[in-house]
Amino acid sequence: MSHPSRRDFLKTSAQAATALATTGLLASPSRAADLWPIPEVDVKITRAMKIEVEYDRPRIVAGNSQYRVAGGRRREAILVAFGDNGKIGVGACNGGASQNDVAYVVGKTVSQLLRDHGAVNAKICTSAFWDLAGKTLDQPVYQLLGGKENAQGVPVYDGSIYHEELLPRDRGSAYRNPGATYAERAGWQDAIKEAIDHTLRLGHTFAKVKIGRGALHLSRLAGNYQDAAVLELIRQHAGNEFGIGVDANNGYRMEDVVWLLKEHGDLNLTFIEEMIPDNVNDYRQIQQVIREHKLKTLVADGEGWRNSYDPLAAEIIESGTVDILQGDMRAFHFEGIRRESNMAIEAGHSSRIAPHNWGNEFGFLMQIHVACAIENFYRAEQDPGTLRGELLVRKSTYDIADGRCRNFSAPGLGMELNTKALDSAKVIHEAKL
Ligand SMILES: [Mg+2]
Repeated sequence: MSHPSRRDFLKTSAQAATALATTGLLASPSRAADLWPIPEVDVKITRAMKIEVEYDRPRIVAGNSQYRVAGGRRREAILVAFGDNGKIGVGACNGGASQNDVAYVVGKTVSQLLRDHGAVNAKICTSAFWDLAGKTLDQPVYQLLGGKENAQGVPVYDGSIYHEELLPRDRGSAYRNPGATYAERAGWQDAIKEAIDHTLRLGHTFAKVKIGRGALHLSRLAGNYQDAAVLELIRQHAGNEFGIGVDANNGYRMEDVVWLLKEHGDLNLTFIEEMIPDNVNDYRQIQQVIREHKLKTLVADGEGWRNSYDPLAAEIIESGTVDILQGDMRAFHFEGIRRESNMAIEAGHSSRIAPHNWGNEFGFLMQIHVACAIENFYRAEQDPGTLRGELLVRKSTYDIADGRCRNFSAPGLGMELNTKALDSAKVIHEAKL
């Protein structure tokens, strides 16, 4: 692969700026450092498809502070791009991508699409083209992004511990996993312990636990106490080494955050996410409480930012009030995560990047690759699930053990389309030359 010259970089930068300006995303001109080196891949897309695949979650996942049940199954839109060299790129696809958006890529080359990432990401997502570039050049995506394989593996966490013990109430019937291990009759502690046991069995050593039961499910006081009881149980059950982050989905009030930090500092929470709507002044107050109580807890937020050009993202990153920046993997795409990473380095507050990724397998794969290509990556969010059907074949195994993900060096993102199963695909949009 040839790296572009400075002139190419400037040209690419100008093109990206134009593309973003035309899609209304541009707050300030794009800079060369914000772009990945664009590989020269003169492969033309002859056919593109937006397909929907489904994953079974390991159990019915309960609700959070905003809704009652996440469910037992999740859907994911993917983009399949057929190259004129016989290789097939597979990647994430924006949920809202229309027939016109899918048709936009047909007839264009991979390099062209990657150079136009601003426009492409606004319509679809560049990840299928990075995948096709990798398959064409026989390189994993992280290498194309200028990264190296992390020999230790990429740190990961399980993001699927919801309000598990409230599920019987929310579903209106007694909840019991068929393979329940703790008791014949469910106690709320059993539901939590079973969820954590499953997390541990998957090789995780860190989980994000949803809190904020007082926002929707219970009274404020009962909800807060139940949050604390669940966290105490997890700490006791999984041990002191187990990493616990919490996410209130903006369901706490400032006084609840202060209460949790002051009264339950011994829970040793690694991060607190979306406790309240992100706001620099409020986060300064929370950082002050953390300092006063000599806690090591980090503040995490950012999943609500529209993209890396969101003015709120710039304000928060520059303020240094959020330690873990969580721009969404598929809203930001590879290019926006690089920009977020660069903004954090420039701001000089040692904030780190942990993209938000709920319910998406390609979003997980994208995080693992981008983790190897930026210097301030924190941890990747995984939402366990098993693919229904046989449309995709793993070439990289993405093994998770000891809280880290390893074995992701197959070409591209490590996922192949099984063309034999293509007839069974749920096609949402398709375009061809
Ligand atoms: Mg969240």
